Amino acid sequence: MFRTKTCGELRIGDTGSVVTLAGWVQRSRKMGGMTFVDLRDRYGITQIVFDNDTDSELCEAANKLGREYVVQITGKVAERTSKNPNLPTGDIEILATAIKVLNRSDVPPFTIEDNTDGGDDLRMKYRYLDLRRSCVRKNLELRHRMAFEIRRYLDRHGFIEVETPVLIKSTPEGARDFVVPSRMNPGEFYALPQSPQTFKQLLMVSGFDRYFQIVKCFRDEDLRADRQPEFTQIDCEMSFVEQEDVLNMFEGLVKHIFKYVKDIDFTEPFPRMTWADAMRLYGSDKPDTRFGMQFVEIKDLTTGAGFAVMDDAEYVGAIVAPGCAGYTRKQLDQLTDYVKRPQVGAKGMMWVKLEQDGSIKSSVGKFYSDDILRTWLDRAGANPGDLMLILAGPTMKTRKQLNELRLHMGSELGLRDPQKFSCLWVVDFPLFEWDDETQRYYAMHHPFTAPNPDDVHMLDSDTGAVRATAYDMVVNGNELGGGSIRIHDSELQDKMFHLLGLSEDEARYKFGFLMDAFKFGAPPHGGLAFGFDRFVSILAGLDSIRDVIAFPKNNSGRDMMIDAPSEIDQSQLDELKIDIIKDAE
Ligand code: ASP
Repeated sequence: MFRTKTCGELRIGDTGSVVTLAGWVQRSRKMGGMTFVDLRDRYGITQIVFDNDTDSELCEAANKLGREYVVQITGKVAERTSKNPNLPTGDIEILATAIKVLNRSDVPPFTIEDNTDGGDDLRMKYRYLDLRRSCVRKNLELRHRMAFEIRRYLDRHGFIEVETPVLIKSTPEGARDFVVPSRMNPGEFYALPQSPQTFKQLLMVSGFDRYFQIVKCFRDEDLRADRQPEFTQIDCEMSFVEQEDVLNMFEGLVKHIFKYVKDIDFTEPFPRMTWADAMRLYGSDKPDTRFGMQFVEIKDLTTGAGFAVMDDAEYVGAIVAPGCAGYTRKQLDQLTDYVKRPQVGAKGMMWVKLEQDGSIKSSVGKFYSDDILRTWLDRAGANPGDLMLILAGPTMKTRKQLNELRLHMGSELGLRDPQKFSCLWVVDFPLFEWDDETQRYYAMHHPFTAPNPDDVHMLDSDTGAVRATAYDMVVNGNELGGGSIRIHDSELQDKMFHLLGLSEDEARYKFGFLMDAFKFGAPPHGGLAFGFDRFVSILAGLDSIRDVIAFPKNNSGRDMMIDAPSEIDQSQLDELKIDIIKDAE
């Protein structure tokens, strides 16, 4: 046996036993006639001691060990004189009697410690070394445990995991497809799935009833910090259900995982908020409800004072930052700078302070009397010592800006504790989204989403106002997942394609297989998909999903370690009958 114990398991009760360990040299230090080596494996770190007086040859060998050498060590477990309370094995050490170098190592490009000196790029290039760090490894262990537990929950509820193909045809989730050329069908391409959406619906037609899959999806989008071109979904679908059944089933899953990982009991049902309310109160379809500071609309109270900014605005909205009346000029200027950043895009910000003594100060004091300003503060329920921040402009745009400001203030005031979890369902999304640029409607979720039955009669007359039977689960301001009840009637599906501007031919070309399938007895069905990477990162208290993916890509969609994407041989291009148009320059 290479090893009789791991580097993480020896305790005081093992004192006196002879053991063999194998692992990597994390660190070694010489102190007088003694050499101490920290030996690391997946399970932990154990201190090994070499005594020059007992065996000088062995000690000499230990002194030659470099960082990250792979070694096998035999010795006797002894109680440590100076214990290390930070290490589970900190009560003991191994008095080495034999050592074997199993492999040498170059000096690693960064220290393999939780507090590493390696920058992001370097760690991505040597991701296999980064993964040796316990803080990174722990994230993948959590990911594994969650995947396992999710499968158990779904299996217990009668779901079966079915794999769906990766070389497919476009699935419309609103992103660009990654495409793969077909050698056997020159000039033709597969698309990688943006989700298994059409397949899971076909499985419902096949009668599978309850499907799930922990599955890779691919979307060619510009990457933001929380996006990866390939990511993992917990994809689910159920037959003979209504929205309520789907929400209950998956609220159960989320609660189960929170209990399992964090020992948090959510005893109450998750709150539900309509999309319209989410936009009105938070300016976002994924509000962070860990803290209040809901929007207050004061357009009616601001109009008519001859102040054009307010008079001309379609919308005037405010938030109240509790206890911030003491903000200095400089702090207020910084907030104004914040909202003027291109990412937020506001033209300016106005403020009203309700001082502790009840007096009022405001950036718009020249236009409004204290009595008027007090009506704004009253509507918002402001208390002495509070600060009201106000934005004005077109409704949707200004709400989004106010959302950014609210989140910024929440962070400033420490109200976004990563260890606090606030979950909710956002429901009643609009079915369509109007795009000014192309002058047409797009599906807000995807084109298979069913309209709210109460709104079907408005499909032609008031298209933009039709609500969908669609829902998102939101946790701490992140969209954890989303789905919908689907259209299972081929006529309604045809109508939907038509409203989305797809001609009959186009619809047939893209989704003929689904339209045909729906002619053979499609059951009522619906489902959702959770972003698995995001789920893990939220529970791990991390900001980026990159930290919970073994081999992630950087912000340019590049794998720094294997150096992909990369050019391919001319012979491969020839086989695929593909010509590369070189840049004109
Ligand atoms: N396919 C959808 C998505 O990826 C989820 C669903 O509707 O089930 O967002």
